[in-house]
Amino acid sequence: MNEMPHLKNYVFTPAPVPTLPIAGSEALFPVHRIYCVGRNFADHAIEMGHDPNKEPPFFFQKNPDTLVLPGKDFPYPSASKDVHFEIELVVALHKGGTNIPVDEALDYVFGYGVGLDMTRRDLQGEAKKLGRPWETAKAFEASAPCSALHTVSEVGHPTEGAIWIKVNGETRQSGDLNQMIWKVPEMIAYLSQLFELKAGDLIFAGTPAGVGAIVKGDEMVGHVAGVGDIKVSVA
Ligand code: MN
Repeated sequence: MNEMPHLKNYVFTPAPVPTLPIAGSEALFPVHRIYCVGRNFADHAIEMGHDPNKEPPFFFQKNPDTLVLPGKDFPYPSASKDVHFEIELVVALHKGGTNIPVDEALDYVFGYGVGLDMTRRDLQGEAKKLGRPWETAKAFEASAPCSALHTVSEVGHPTEGAIWIKVNGETRQSGDLNQMIWKVPEMIAYLSQLFELKAGDLIFAGTPAGVGAIVKGDEMVGHVAGVGDIKVSVA
């Protein structure tokens, strides 16, 4: 039935490649991996009970098919009674490599978006206590809402400006991109020593203080100055 030669040996039809829209373009950005940096704002590290001076940021991953596209709802997930928002700058790469020098790292950036690192905080707390991995807390279905991407030619490389989220019109997180402990080029360079980065990779760049829980019916509106907005309802 399927005559595309590159598909003929699959035992079932592969899932489509996850993509993000690009603002002002019909083209789509095909997503390869999603990396997330933890504790990249000192005030958030402190609110989670850590000393930002002693603990360098670290990385975890979400799966590309957990993206929630612009205009779609965030379905409240199973197995948690404490689901938190984390507003984040999202960095999108259009080329990859290993051991990328800091001073060349911005050449790898296609553009930026506004994302939400949705987190089952209760399951994360349990995992931390037991020394277990974080996937059930961080990589569940629909855990990565993201805006359309804005190209570098449109927005440049934002390094300062407001990053905030309002829930039902009330400001919950409010910070500035200049508070990031590890800057975007440093994150790319460091990640590229641990992984082979590829075109299509996204990096969720960490969140400021003020994370908190949402419930069904809430409306989250987030903003990163110079990049854009995200609006997601909890269904
Ligand atoms: Mn986060």
